[in-house]
Amino acid sequence: MKNATRVVVAGCGPAGLMAATVLSEAGLPVHIFEAMGSAGRKFLVAGRSGLNLTHSEKAGDFAARYGDNAEIFKNLLAVFSPDDLRAWLRGLGVETYVGTSGRVFPKDTKAPDILKVWLETLGRRGVVFHYHHRWQGFAETGAPLFLAENGALLEFPAMAVLLALGGASWPQTGSDGSWTSFLAARGVHLAPFRPANCGLEVAWSEHFRAQFSGKPLKNLLLRCGDRQATGDVMVTDHGLEGGPVYALSGIIRDLLEKGAPVPLFLDLKRDLSLELLREKLAHPRGKESLVNFLRKAIHLTGPAYSLLREICSQEELKNPAVLAGKIKNLPVPIINTRPLAEAISSAGGVTFPEVNADLMLHQLPGVFVAGEMLDWEAPTGGYLLQGAFTTGYRAAQGLLRWLRQSTPQSPHPSPRHS
Ligand SMILES: Cc1cc2nc3c(=O)[nH]c(=O)nc-3n(C[C@H](O)[C@H](O)[C@H](O)COP(=O)(O)OP(=O)(O)OC[C@H]3O[C@@H](n4cnc5c(N)ncnc54)[C@H](O)[C@@H]3O)c2cc1C
Repeated sequence: MKNATRVVVAGCGPAGLMAATVLSEAGLPVHIFEAMGSAGRKFLVAGRSGLNLTHSEKAGDFAARYGDNAEIFKNLLAVFSPDDLRAWLRGLGVETYVGTSGRVFPKDTKAPDILKVWLETLGRRGVVFHYHHRWQGFAETGAPLFLAENGALLEFPAMAVLLALGGASWPQTGSDGSWTSFLAARGVHLAPFRPANCGLEVAWSEHFRAQFSGKPLKNLLLRCGDRQATGDVMVTDHGLEGGPVYALSGIIRDLLEKGAPVPLFLDLKRDLSLELLREKLAHPRGKESLVNFLRKAIHLTGPAYSLLREICSQEELKNPAVLAGKIKNLPVPIINTRPLAEAISSAGGVTFPEVNADLMLHQLPGVFVAGEMLDWEAPTGGYLLQGAFTTGYRAAQGLLRWLRQSTPQSPHPSPRHS
């Protein structure tokens, strides 16, 4: 290893920076390339809405959040766990705390400060940053190619390459998924990008949209099949946004893709049982308007009341027993998910069968992949950043192992990808 020459990391998001951390700690000269003019733009966006770094739940439950990839993540998280992440952050001078929901946040530190101290640490270790350099595949020699801002194509020979180019949501942060064609051209199988943790489209009436766009529906329970989520939901011009919506958006997206009906139901009064609700609504309301009656009887007001009016027929509103049922189980006609560009994260990218346990591409020995460019998805709650950090860490470890296994006679093995 002491004769080692440089290694290349492409992508300055959490996954790429974590990989650069591990590789520079091992004493390797690391060059990190980034298409944008600065690092960690999506990380900074995540910080705007309360940087949820990871979650405190126990290992098995944590891995289960990665759905079909739970088994893979169980192994990955065993190498770099939420506790490891918190310990590493402490080493960086960033204390964390567990919020009431079990989510982990930085204590008294904002995302820009974390990024600053992280980049300074890497800089002190000699990591060389190349901004405005977009990865463009590999040259005939196997060296990675980068398109510089001035239009020049730079061939940059390296012992090994670690790609951490992100998914395809929020393209304005640099994660635009434009790297896919270069890997597909090398025979790497990619799953198409799809929105994950995204809003849902509902065809509101003009009246409802005008009155309630931007207003919250408080303390709901959302149900779709055997999945449910609770919390506040925001009415938007296009439909619904918010934590519980994002939590169910994956299965709703899958149903929409199959052309299947979307059985999304809202419980507008989750603190009242159906029986109690029926009892309360059974009282004769006389000449009282429905809006006043519901406000006094069950404290149902504002957007929740108007949503009932938006979705229920006059007959349903007039029948107290039917109305109670609708309040507990209001069907919302979902027409689509919001576009990928708006989603918090994306599913799709390099599928796991394309990489070995070290996250090295079978098609391109010496080339490793990490972060959201791999085909996994997880809910919000810190699972996305943890997934990016963990795969960045693991891929860097894999790269180190691969270099160690390279013959000592050839200290500069270029990746074999013809
Ligand atoms: C609004 C919002 C809020 C979020 N909040 C949270 C949260 O609180 N908690 C959480 O866990 N997750 C959150 N996330 C998700 C989290 O930010 C991402 O999962 C994470 O940033 C993914 O890290 P990554 O390194 O894989 O990719 P990215 O962060 O997307 O980084 C990829 C980098 O690669 C660069 N790049 C792309 N193509 C090229 C190329 N060809 N050449 C060179 N460079 C290239 C990009 O410019 C980018 O800098 C949020 C996301 C959004 C959009």
